[in-house]
Amino acid sequence: MELRAFFAAQRLLRPQPAEGPITPIAPPAVAYGRADLRQPPNPDEHGYHTPLAQMTLLDYHRFIGEWLVAAADTGRVRCAVCDRQLAGAGEPQLWRVWAAEGAYVCWLPVHAACRQGVQRGLGLLTPPILVPGLRLYDVSAIVRGDGASGGPQGG
Ligand SMILES: [Zn+2]
Repeated sequence: MELRAFFAAQRLLRPQPAEGPITPIAPPAVAYGRADLRQPPNPDEHGYHTPLAQMTLLDYHRFIGEWLVAAADTGRVRCAVCDRQLAGAGEPQLWRVWAAEGAYVCWLPVHAACRQGVQRGLGLLTPPILVPGLRLYDVSAIVRGDGASGGPQGG
């Protein structure tokens, strides 16, 4: 399944303000560090146990969380706020994955200690996410199996 079709079905595509007859659409992105947004991985291309076509949004949140933990194990993930390298799976309580929903949707690995800087970190992205009332979802609780406590966390 194409990621774009999945994102469209999950209502994760965001129209961008633009001049001209065509309004660009922003698909979700994954942060690998401060202002370092990249295209999310497709589980079908990585042999994940659940095919994308069968995933709920919660399943995809879980996949992204596991993906970032695995990437952190190899030293490839930095905090979206302070840009310091994140620890791997051995120290999962030191950082969390947040799903931010605003002008576009993105997943952000952030140190627990950097939690207060998330809004500022979002402002450093290009283009910045400038949405009052931005909602942040703590994906890590979902990844750890603490239940579906993915509700709005304020911000
Ligand atoms: Zn940090």
